[in-house]
Amino acid sequence: MLTREQALAQYPGLGLLIGGSWETEGGRETLDVLNPATGQVIGACPVATEADIAKALEGAERGYQAWRRVAPVERAKVLRKVADTMRARTEELAGLVVLELGKPWVEALGEVEQAAGMWEWAAEEGRRAYGRVIPSREAGSRQMALREPLGPIAAFGSWNAPLITPSRKMAGALGAGCSIAMKASEEVPACALTIGRIAYECGLPEGVLSILVGDAVTISERLLDSPVIRGVTFTGSTQVGKILSQRAVGMMKRPIMELGGHAPVLVFDDVDVDAVAKAAAAAKFRNSGQVCTSATRFLVQRSIAERFTETMAEAAAKLVMGCGFDRSTTMGPLVSERRVSAIRDLVADARARGARIVTGGGEPERDGFFHEPTVIADVSLDAKVSNVEPFGPIAAITPFDTYEEAITIANRLPFGLAAYVQSNNVRILNRAIDDIQAGNVICNGWRVSLPETPFGGVKESGLLLEGGVEGLQAFQTVKFAYMA
Ligand code: NAD
Repeated sequence: MLTREQALAQYPGLGLLIGGSWETEGGRETLDVLNPATGQVIGACPVATEADIAKALEGAERGYQAWRRVAPVERAKVLRKVADTMRARTEELAGLVVLELGKPWVEALGEVEQAAGMWEWAAEEGRRAYGRVIPSREAGSRQMALREPLGPIAAFGSWNAPLITPSRKMAGALGAGCSIAMKASEEVPACALTIGRIAYECGLPEGVLSILVGDAVTISERLLDSPVIRGVTFTGSTQVGKILSQRAVGMMKRPIMELGGHAPVLVFDDVDVDAVAKAAAAAKFRNSGQVCTSATRFLVQRSIAERFTETMAEAAAKLVMGCGFDRSTTMGPLVSERRVSAIRDLVADARARGARIVTGGGEPERDGFFHEPTVIADVSLDAKVSNVEPFGPIAAITPFDTYEEAITIANRLPFGLAAYVQSNNVRILNRAIDDIQAGNVICNGWRVSLPETPFGGVKESGLLLEGGVEGLQAFQTVKFAYMA
């Protein structure tokens, strides 16, 4: 395990990775990068200029023409080497996650493994871009459906999974044979940039991957408006996802959108209440609740609601807030002051509407961007926290009486990313899988979004999928070929 001092000493000088060349000079403006556990500046990242964006686009076109002709089996070797290198450099990468985002060390180690797994999966699955031979209408001729890479991809990601999100996008696009120009999240740039540099060290041809940092609007408009780009993959809020999708579709570019959620958790009265409440607290406060699939709206059957609330609140109160490099820390900071003030606002609104703050609700007296793990009971459906994705350490508990009522509350929002159901009654689970409007329905568990499983949202939570076979197909197109 690295110490904070060791990680700080290793924190890399920041630059832009443009088609394989590492750009640090040139008098560009810079953006400060902060450690959220202290609020202190840990680095300054150059901001991409118009010329940098143009160079990334040129690289994407040139790189695509080269990479699409590399046999999938050879592409797989590069991608697998990236996975191996990431695993070999686990401590260094975990250190970047803890410095830039603040996650506890154990969570950061898990993030490295999952991100490496994305590269491994794309390496393996990229070799299986099978097409079909469709029986022809005339003897002596062939009808074929061939899978081809979609083309150069523009990518944008949020900060909350600083290795996993860029890895999904880079590995998915590269595994399918596309090139990719990506804007790294300005909060956590060293994570994406380091993976990008590893990819080139592992043999990625020049041009195929660029990683820019800078003004989101300028970079997205220049990339999307360029005829070079054929698809855009975005992970972030529904609001920004809509802006990017409209722009992309207006130019017939494919939008792949992984957007906001507000996951309901339906807890029925046949469960082991204490065990589920403790597991719910662990799931809820992972990454300080800054997870798009985070369990946020706890709908608990009335007869067990009080016991569930007390046990979950006890588990939340035992969490130790602090710097991710401290062994005792079980919950880190939020990424920025902006997130702390958003949570403060949700707590104040719930309180004003008569909800009960069972634990937490405040901010500790310390440097950095911390908010206490908070459990709120008797939350009304008109409270902001029942409607706006919190993306932070708040669990809102609302009792329900019947299955139908729980499903109606679960489905009442425009989001449909993840949902959780806790019950030992297989009939309830089966019905819930059918009735809940979400891209991911998890029964008696909390794990979503593995390299080999499809991941995406319905309703306003997204378009198309990442992960699994489906994730690779999002970066492919199908060509019909006929030969007589
Ligand atoms: P955000 O939408 O504000 O920002 C995401 C990224 O988009 C950032 O890199 C930002 O610089 C960029 N961006 C902002 N405005 C832009 C614009 N006009 N044009 C182009 N790019 C722009 O979201 P956030 O606050 O960084 O992340 C939190 C949100 O992301 C939550 O809603 C969360 O649910 C969602 N999220 C979704 C998933 C998923 O897979 N579905 C995963 C993680 C996070």
